[in-house]
Amino acid sequence: MGERYAVIGQPVAHSKSPWIHAQFARATQQDLEYGCIEAPLGGFTRAADEFRDGGGKGLNVTLPFKEDAYQYCAQLTPRARDARAVNTIRFGTETFGDNTDGVGLVRDLARLGADVRGSRVLLMGAGGAARGVVGALVEAGASRLTIANRNESKAREIATRWRISASGYEALLPEFELVINATSAGLAGESPGVPPDVLARAKHAYDMVYGRDTPFLAAARAARVPTSDGLGMLVEQAAESFFVWRGVRPDTAPVLRELRGR
Ligand code: NDP
Repeated sequence: MGERYAVIGQPVAHSKSPWIHAQFARATQQDLEYGCIEAPLGGFTRAADEFRDGGGKGLNVTLPFKEDAYQYCAQLTPRARDARAVNTIRFGTETFGDNTDGVGLVRDLARLGADVRGSRVLLMGAGGAARGVVGALVEAGASRLTIANRNESKAREIATRWRISASGYEALLPEFELVINATSAGLAGESPGVPPDVLARAKHAYDMVYGRDTPFLAAARAARVPTSDGLGMLVEQAAESFFVWRGVRPDTAPVLRELRGR
């Protein structure tokens, strides 16, 4: 039997992670099993302990447990510490927490030709996803990074930490080449409220939500702005988790291609 990994969340039955990691394992000839753990709210620690005690080697963590996982880990990488959220756990003599969302986003943007380096970037949202990617966007060399959120004080808190700008949506100026939606508005069929002229001026609009069309992407398409959803980020962050666990970097392109065709 191969070493055991799983994704833990609530709900989690819809997760594409087991399929993605099975493809990675096959392509890199790694002997592992990858399952799903649906933990009750408030039940993260118990479920993670049980998995570890049963011999589990690592977990991917999804909504709503990324902050619980951050509290749970004895050791944190700088990118997990910056995000105050963990999406990848490796069990060993110590429990090690990482966050691969930022590198996943930046790699997907590079694949799309939507370069961050030298670009003016607008990041919308100030939840766990935004916190997970802001450091990677800074490191990738955005010439300017502004974070906007409905609750502006949450955006200001992140902006202060990274010495970037914060804003509410109404005050935004049409000056961004890359507009990234890290809100969950699309899941409710809503748009985060980016002014139409800001969106129309962009060279690329990226929504981290995947598996559905969103009002944000529809508005960008109507303004003839190239768009992408977050499926590529999902595959890239998974590949980085796989690397954290196995020390092997899988090829993401065939997996993303097949996932798009499913
Ligand atoms: P959180 O619940 O932590 O944060 C939600 C954010 O969305 C907040 O900033 C909130 O604003 C904002 N928001 C929600 N509804 C609206 C609305 N109607 N209008 C404007 N803003 C709104 O979620 P996460 O940050 O963890 O996740 C955000 C999204 O990113 C999810 O949809 C998730 O699926 C996706 N994601 C995708 C990944 C991928 O690999 N593609 C990886 C990680 C996340 P406020 O603070 O004002 O409430």
